Amino acid sequence: MDLPSHFIWAFVLFHNQPWAWVAVVFCCIPDILWFFPRLAKVAYHHLVIRRGRMQFTDINDMHTRHLYRLNHSIITGAFASLLAFMLSTPDMAMGVMAGWTLHLFMDIWTHKGGIVDGIRLFYPLSDWKFPALIWWKEELERRPWIYGINLVAAAIVFVLLGG
Ligand SMILES: [Zn+2]
Repeated sequence: MDLPSHFIWAFVLFHNQPWAWVAVVFCCIPDILWFFPRLAKVAYHHLVIRRGRMQFTDINDMHTRHLYRLNHSIITGAFASLLAFMLSTPDMAMGVMAGWTLHLFMDIWTHKGGIVDGIRLFYPLSDWKFPALIWWKEELERRPWIYGINLVAAAIVFVLLGG
């Protein structure tokens, strides 16, 4: 899904927890860790090499896909939580795990296409792809009102969880 949705849903589901903000941040981290290296690459092409008119979506090389798959792997999530557990508190580790897991849970159903083509949950140990139902970006282009349903659903769940 998209970054604002990751932020919103993590807040909605975890806001009653002591580790809520850690979970919100780490629910966004897998995409942020992938987004900025790509942005840096586009900037590099434009400003340093000045070669062609490279677009953000053109960045689909092996490194980009590798980085995306690593960030969208439950193994990386588990490793990050273990690190948080060793370096910080169990609460911190819980927030990291909850946020990262929610991110993956939201993406596995909604990433049928795109430049990385699916979520490989156990990357780099396995290349198995979760059989996603839709490609969120394409779905939103065709039926933008789906985003409205997404937001209303988040609001309802927020209220149901005691606001
Ligand atoms: Zn993602």
